[in-house]
Amino acid sequence: MSQRYYIVGNWKMNGMRAALSEARAIDRAAQRLPKVEVALAPPVTLIAAMRESLNGIGVGAQNCHHAEKGAHTGDLAASMLREGGADFVIVGHSERRADHNETNEMVKAKAEAAQGVDMGVILCVGESEAERDSGEAEEIVARQLAASLPDNAQRLSVAYEPIWAIGTGRVPQTGDVAKMHRRLREVLVEKYGDEEGAEVRILYGGSVKGENAAELLAVPEVGGALVGGASLTADGFVPIVVAAS
Ligand code: PEP
Repeated sequence: MSQRYYIVGNWKMNGMRAALSEARAIDRAAQRLPKVEVALAPPVTLIAAMRESLNGIGVGAQNCHHAEKGAHTGDLAASMLREGGADFVIVGHSERRADHNETNEMVKAKAEAAQGVDMGVILCVGESEAERDSGEAEEIVARQLAASLPDNAQRLSVAYEPIWAIGTGRVPQTGDVAKMHRRLREVLVEKYGDEEGAEVRILYGGSVKGENAAELLAVPEVGGALVGGASLTADGFVPIVVAAS
């Protein structure tokens, strides 16, 4: 695997137009660090504006509907997001799985819908604190991933995000991250074969900051980071991009 690290900011439900200045500052910094692939997933309302004003980084969405069109009030099809300027979609984030009862089957269908219009996909998986404490986290997350994976690996990345680490300032031991990423790699190889399964980047997500990014990125099989809170400002996000460069 000779890919660049992939560092993606998930702005969640944060960011008005005033925040575009932060995105522009992140974009300028990323252009000076071409060894890293950088992207932001802002709220839908900022996708077009980011697409127009940023040159060096990818812009994506945080969710899509699995259907191409139809009677789904308030939802957006992957093709609409693409036309609006997004070139990838995050699917299966734990907040959507929890807040919108998204199942593995729905996550798989969303990933395939995005691939169907040639968008990248970042598919999120991760265990709860109780699942971690049970000692079964690797097997639980491996099953979640296997059931959520799209039928092909086209433009696919996976993000391992322990739910208990999201927004809490807590991060797993690097040894636990290594074990999980190794297990998830096995699932990918089993599904897509040696070559394609090895190409899928597995990002780590959960309280990544400038201070811990280098250590987490150095873990074997960690191909980048999915970053929430620290991605909202250039001051928070650029040090993570620098750590990946
Ligand atoms: C996330 O929700 O994807 C995330 C990783 O959040 P944070 O970096 O704030 O923990």
